[in-house]
Amino acid sequence: MDFSAADSRMAGPGRQQTLRHAISCSGTGLHSGAAVSMTLRPAAVDSGIVFRRTDLGNAAPVIPATINYVVDDRLCTAIGLRGGPSVATIEHLMAALRGMGVDNTEIAIDGPEVPVMDGSAAPFVFLLECAGLAAQSAPRRTIEVLRPVSVAKDGAEAMLVPGISFSAGCDIDFASRAIGRQSLTVSLVNGTFKTDIARARTFGFAHEVDRLRAAGLARGGSLDNAVVVAGDTVLNDEGLRWADEFVRHKILDSIGDLYLAGAPIVGRFHGYRSGHALNHLLVRTLLADRAAWRWTGTGVTNIVAGAAVPAAAAAAPATL
Ligand SMILES: [Zn+2]
Repeated sequence: MDFSAADSRMAGPGRQQTLRHAISCSGTGLHSGAAVSMTLRPAAVDSGIVFRRTDLGNAAPVIPATINYVVDDRLCTAIGLRGGPSVATIEHLMAALRGMGVDNTEIAIDGPEVPVMDGSAAPFVFLLECAGLAAQSAPRRTIEVLRPVSVAKDGAEAMLVPGISFSAGCDIDFASRAIGRQSLTVSLVNGTFKTDIARARTFGFAHEVDRLRAAGLARGGSLDNAVVVAGDTVLNDEGLRWADEFVRHKILDSIGDLYLAGAPIVGRFHGYRSGHALNHLLVRTLLADRAAWRWTGTGVTNIVAGAAVPAAAAAAPATL
């Protein structure tokens, strides 16, 4: 499988993709500290990205990985059913699925949180490469941005503007000299997700880690799965993977966040000090403004014609 080709097709025409084979991994939840196993399986056309909690029995319902199912976005992205099961820390896996061009997969997981792996999306990219991708019979649907949409809160800002393909740019500005001001924009073409973004790890500050631990969070967090900054120093012995690894991770997060729209977005994203909550608000604001976007891909016709609305599009087509 030529993943560069798969990647470059994402924004334009092309067929939906799923995994060629099921594949599993195991690891530790960042916040819960719980050991968890996860299996990604091939899934039917238009079924989207869905999770199923296998530890809750064979009849456990699927949880669509779309914006309407987000139940928490303060520290990570968690999705769940009202009064039912949830899955936390899905954002890096979602970024890998978007970055590698996976439209449909069912993710069986035997715990409440996706394993953090090394804190980046690279292990999930490796997993997808091992499984291989398979083109499916239906065309890919995308959400094309037709006019600018922006949201702002507490000095942070996020926006989407029309563009012929998808790009994500972020600016960050931290007092710590280990981070400082960083700015980068990446177009998801020719395999750039894998080469420029996937390996960027999540990061945090030592004093925050202490506070999170006191609150019962970040129990699985360590220097093995996050860049930890204390004052102006990076504590990890191995240092950074890029000098601007921090802004690359912000781009990674935003790619995962935007995939909760239920389909790949075609347009240009930019975030200034943006995080999960603001990115999610941007997706909600876009989808709520029916004049700001349209479906592309002939699969849309099926939805308009009244065929079963795919689960992954549950967030979007309420106004179709
Ligand atoms: Zn992240």
